Amino acid sequence: MTQRAYNFNAGPSALPQEVLENAQQQLVNFRESGMSIMEMSHRSAIFDEVHNEAIALLKKLYAIPENYEVLFLQGGASLQFTMVPMNFLQPDKKASYVLSGSWSEKAIKEAKFFGLAVEAASTKENKYRNIPALADIQFNEDDAYVHITSNNTIYGTQWKDFPETGNVPLVADMSSDILSKPVDISKFGIIYAGAQKNLGPSGVTVVIIRKDLLEKANKEIPTMLKYTTHADSNSLYNTPPTFGIYMLGEVLKWVESKGGVEAIAKHNEAKAKVIYDAIDNSNGFYTGHATPESRSLMNITFRVADEELEKQFLVEAKAAGFVGLNGHRSVGGCRASTYNAVPLEACEALRDFMVTFQNKHQ
Ligand code: PMP
Repeated sequence: MTQRAYNFNAGPSALPQEVLENAQQQLVNFRESGMSIMEMSHRSAIFDEVHNEAIALLKKLYAIPENYEVLFLQGGASLQFTMVPMNFLQPDKKASYVLSGSWSEKAIKEAKFFGLAVEAASTKENKYRNIPALADIQFNEDDAYVHITSNNTIYGTQWKDFPETGNVPLVADMSSDILSKPVDISKFGIIYAGAQKNLGPSGVTVVIIRKDLLEKANKEIPTMLKYTTHADSNSLYNTPPTFGIYMLGEVLKWVESKGGVEAIAKHNEAKAKVIYDAIDNSNGFYTGHATPESRSLMNITFRVADEELEKQFLVEAKAAGFVGLNGHRSVGGCRASTYNAVPLEACEALRDFMVTFQNKHQ
């Protein structure tokens, strides 16, 4: 392949070409240090600047209030499935989990190792085609927290509004839609996300946590798994994933150069519309998995009506330079992930391919 692919990978996924080119240029001699960012101490002045710039820019772009801490951790979003209950589920409390897809199932499974974790709502019976109605979410005033998955990467559904949980901290796994649209951060106690979809390469996990919760966290747990360990040391308790944090910072600068999160959100809407329109105008040749009101702007899941044709669709799409269109291995079908860095032109090219394929085969 001599040019960049139409990259619809679900994660790790497309990064902005400008960011990659800039990183390439800076690679061997970073800021005239005589070495790459990967080769220098995480305690050096240069890395410190990169690290703090990234934290400050995320706070600015995502309008994160003063009373929140931004942490860069490791272990992926999957370790957050463990860290959240380990830190915040006390033995005499319960945590309520909204089940809206496979990742929320994985999250509740880990919570059960630490205490009582119950379903606040579930759309499993509807094959996770939708997000539950806010009114159907059950929790108690004295719950340790309520957990949601803001975007369901595998099923292609996304929350449009978030539940009001009052004094109960709302915890959100935002792995697949962080920074894709403006969010009122003050509604949340904790937001976490692996970086590898909208923020950078894999290896960094972003945690946004309200400071007062840190004081209430369980104390008798291992050092590395305590949020306070990382909050108290500005995420530099041990060696952080330095290259990943640098790349994350560069992606944030790219978001800023595009006009910030509001501009990115408009762009994301336009991109998703191009593909959803191709599905909706296909007279049933393509069918979306998600119910229209729960459709994700990040992961567009669909089927080709005929199973044999679906296989052919995926083979021909691959040959035409489209990457990552196979649905998750657990559900099959097709999925186009249209994260922040996926350009509109890629979505238009996919739309054209879908229309041509349909005209050829229906
Ligand atoms: N939550 C969601 C919503 C995801 O999409 C993923 C990864 N695709 C995960 C959690 C797991 O993330 P990680 O691989 O960073 O542990």
